[in-house]
Amino acid sequence: MEVLKLENVGLTYFSQNGETQALKDITFSVHDGEFISIVGPSGCGKTTILSIIAKLIKPTVGTIIFHQKDKHTLTGYMLQKDELFEWRTIIKNVMIGLEIQKKNNKNTVKFANQLLDKYGLKEFKKQHPSQLSGGMRQRVALIRTLVLEPEVLLLDEPFSALDYQTRMAVCDDVKDILNKEKKAAILVTHDISEAISLSDRIIVLSKRPATIKKEYQLQFDSHLTPLQRREDKKFQMYFDQIWKDLQYDET
Ligand code: ADP
Ligand code: MG
Repeated sequence: MEVLKLENVGLTYFSQNGETQALKDITFSVHDGEFISIVGPSGCGKTTILSIIAKLIKPTVGTIIFHQKDKHTLTGYMLQKDELFEWRTIIKNVMIGLEIQKKNNKNTVKFANQLLDKYGLKEFKKQHPSQLSGGMRQRVALIRTLVLEPEVLLLDEPFSALDYQTRMAVCDDVKDILNKEKKAAILVTHDISEAISLSDRIIVLSKRPATIKKEYQLQFDSHLTPLQRREDKKFQMYFDQIWKDLQYDET
């Protein structure tokens, strides 16, 4: 089922220094449980797409359609930096969005605890962020987003601040959690490998103003983890293709 759809979306920023056209004629939809990556050169308009989906900014032209089931928050945002508050314990960090939305009650506290238990953070609930590894912190940030029960997760280069080793582990982690919780996700990244290892579908953007240059429906065996995909022979094929798409960008 379709969760949301962008139709011929364009966006121009207006500022004192003039106009910047960031997006042009962007059309794509997102389905239940689907993992989509958006790749493109830096500064092309990737974050702008997520900001539009998160309703932080309105498109200049075009439409965006949300098929929202009532009680749920539609989108949840996870950023590059985990943005955990050091003075709060892990459980308190996880509860912050619920507090802001005034949904801090017995049920949501229970749900937050269940998620922390389920994903290996049971012993860390009363600790503070600095006592956790980078990978664990990122998992806390993901759980903080998941407790709000969004239908679509928006991930803006969430792994780029992590070292290589941790990044591999966190990728597997995040993919596993999203599969189990059956969430759709849109990942924005300039890292082609990351996109191939995680996604069902990849949207390749041109330079700014971003237009959709190509779309790839990836064909990997469904049981492969992100790390195992990197070992698969199709991986290199997709990599070479997308690399070329980004290199020969004359549009
Ligand atoms: P990406 O995430 O792909 O690196 P962004 O979506 O952040 O790119 O930005 C796309 C373009 O729009 C860039 O040229 C950026 O400088 C410009 N831009 C982003 N936000 C604003 C803003 N608030 N006002 C003016 N220009 C902006
Ligand atoms: Mg960005």
